[in-house]
Amino acid sequence: MTAPKKPATPKVAEILPLRAPRRCANCSKDTVRAFYPFCSKRCKDVDLHRWLSGAYAIPVVEADAGSGEDD
Ligand SMILES: [Zn+2]
Repeated sequence: MTAPKKPATPKVAEILPLRAPRRCANCSKDTVRAFYPFCSKRCKDVDLHRWLSGAYAIPVVEADAGSGEDD
């Protein structure tokens, strides 16, 4: 009988730094603190405009989807 192999060090979820560097939500360039999470006023405005024009929709997650979903 062989002794069970000890599992290797369990993989712990990667710990992210408090302020992970983020890319501009619009063009993926480095963000600038003043316009976070964007790289410039331009990108910020572009994004704002998208919101205002309804290009984005906030997804709605229903708590108990699956029960009585016969639409
Ligand atoms: Zn940008």
